[in-house]
Amino acid sequence: MDLPLTGEPLALDLINTKGGSPDGPVDHLATVEGLRRWLTAQAHRLPQPAADLTEADRAAVVELREAMTTVVDLARRGLEPPGWALRALSDADRLASPYRTLDWSEGRVVVGAEREGDYRSTLLSLLAGATIDLLAGPIGTVRDCEGPGCCMLFLPAHPRRRWCSPELCGNRVRVARYYRRHAGREPQA
Ligand SMILES: [Zn+2]
Repeated sequence: MDLPLTGEPLALDLINTKGGSPDGPVDHLATVEGLRRWLTAQAHRLPQPAADLTEADRAAVVELREAMTTVVDLARRGLEPPGWALRALSDADRLASPYRTLDWSEGRVVVGAEREGDYRSTLLSLLAGATIDLLAGPIGTVRDCEGPGCCMLFLPAHPRRRWCSPELCGNRVRVARYYRRHAGREPQA
C-alpha cells in the first residue's frame, strides 16, 4: 500500500500507520516525508506544519505512537497497560493546553480555539487527546481486521463490519475463496 488507511478515529489511523497490512509489514512513518503525507491525509482534523518537518518531529510522533499502540492494544482487551505508556499519553496530552480566543466581528463575539506551544507540541497533544477520548469512550468495540495477515484496527459503525477496508481485505478474501472453490483452475485472462 502506498498510503495508509484513513477514516477511523484519529488514534486508530495513527496506530494503523505501522503493523501488518495485507501486503506485509509496513511503517508509513519511517521517513519525514511519510509523516508529511500522513498529515496531509489528515488535513481535515490536524493542523498542517508551517515550517519544514524535522526528524525530531517524526521521532516524537513515532515515540507517542508506540505508547498509543501499547495502551490501546491492552486496554481494549481489558488488560492493564504499563505505567510508562499511560504516563507518555497524559504527558503528551498536556503539552499544548487549549485556550479560546475572543474577537468581535460583524456585531458579535467570535470564539476561536487555539493551543499554547509550538507545532510539535500541538500535534502530540492532539494525538494523545484523541487517544484518551477513545480510551474514555468506545475502546471496547475496537476490532481487528479479519483479513489474512492484516492487523489493522477499526471502530465498526455497524456490528457486521469485518474488514479494515472492503476494497482491500474484503475483496482479497472473496477472491481467495473463489479460487479455493475452483481449485486447480487457473484464472482466465
Ligand atoms: Zn484488513
